[in-house]
Amino acid sequence: MSDCLFCKIINGEIPSTKVYEDDNVYAFNDIDPQAPFHIIIVPKDHIASGNDLTDENSAIVGHIFSAAAKIAKEKGFAENGWRIVNNCGKDGGQTVGHLHFHLLAGRNLQWPPG
Ligand code: 5GP
Ligand code: ZN
Repeated sequence: MSDCLFCKIINGEIPSTKVYEDDNVYAFNDIDPQAPFHIIIVPKDHIASGNDLTDENSAIVGHIFSAAAKIAKEKGFAENGWRIVNNCGKDGGQTVGHLHFHLLAGRNLQWPPG
């Protein structure tokens, strides 16, 4: 989508620090990290939010989790643990309209979230 921030990051129009990439997924450091590791993982295809996942396109979510597990091992935080967060819609705190998963690690994360 031409005016989508994360589509622009995926196609290189807006610079980002790449952490992982394959045919279906792109991962990069969050610009405003909330933990020592704060990585955004997105599908390369534009999907607006979790509300737009269907039986047809939701295999990407499993793929994103397997990308997260690879990143966790590569960055060395697999053993200590990590968290995946998806904010969906206004009340979920979503600010960018391209489905994305926050991969957070590197400190003892608290529960419940705000
Ligand atoms: P949301 O609030 O939609 O769940 O998460 C959006 C995330 O994208 C936020 O954590 C925010 O810091 C991050 N973000 C927003 N704009 C940019 C940007 O231009 N570059 C990067 N790397 N991250 C961004
Ligand atoms: Zn997009």
